[in-house]
Amino acid sequence: MDTGFPKENATNQKSRALSDSLEAENALVQPDHGAGTMILSTHALVGAALANMFPAHPVAAFAVGFASHFALDAIPHADYPIRSASLDPKIGAPLQFDRALLQDAITIGADGLLGVALAFVFFASAQNQWAILLGVFGAVLPDAFQFLHARFPREPLRTLQRLHRWAHTDVEIKERVVLAIASQVLIVLAFGAVSFGVQGGRFFSAASAAAAAFTP
Ligand SMILES: [Zn+2]
Repeated sequence: MDTGFPKENATNQKSRALSDSLEAENALVQPDHGAGTMILSTHALVGAALANMFPAHPVAAFAVGFASHFALDAIPHADYPIRSASLDPKIGAPLQFDRALLQDAITIGADGLLGVALAFVFFASAQNQWAILLGVFGAVLPDAFQFLHARFPREPLRTLQRLHRWAHTDVEIKERVVLAIASQVLIVLAFGAVSFGVQGGRFFSAASAAAAAFTP
């Protein structure tokens, strides 16, 4: 006999899915009055490209990477939406370990790890690994400070947040996805090209070594 239970479950699920998607929509239409974040891997790769030019000076690499964050944020860009109100620096709600937080942790974690991995693949060598590490760290640090500021809104985080917000562009190109992605790729390629041109990179030196090996 059909009890009707499965049907009821399906309806429950459907309404839950609907409320979830409404929640997501609400998150998207929230007014943007903080400094949003450019994709972390872009920051990491640009930080590494710059650090590559200071192979023996990890502290300088850190400082330049840190400064690059604000310069990059000034360029119109798109970023992925932050779902959890507790991770969103514009809201700064108390930490709540829910599905949104988990989804965000996965997205942000994957983004950050990808950035660090690519930075090391393209730029790191035995001579510059500390510079690359600190350059990448400096380049993503302002976004971590922004998250901290939402929780602890005091000095020096307050001043830093003001600088972050001031530097950050008001232009969002969220709806033009191809342009948004292309512009980030171009930024990374441009910084990478300058960096390889000035200092050489792992791929660059491997390629020239190969070329030298094959030249009679
Ligand atoms: Zn930022």
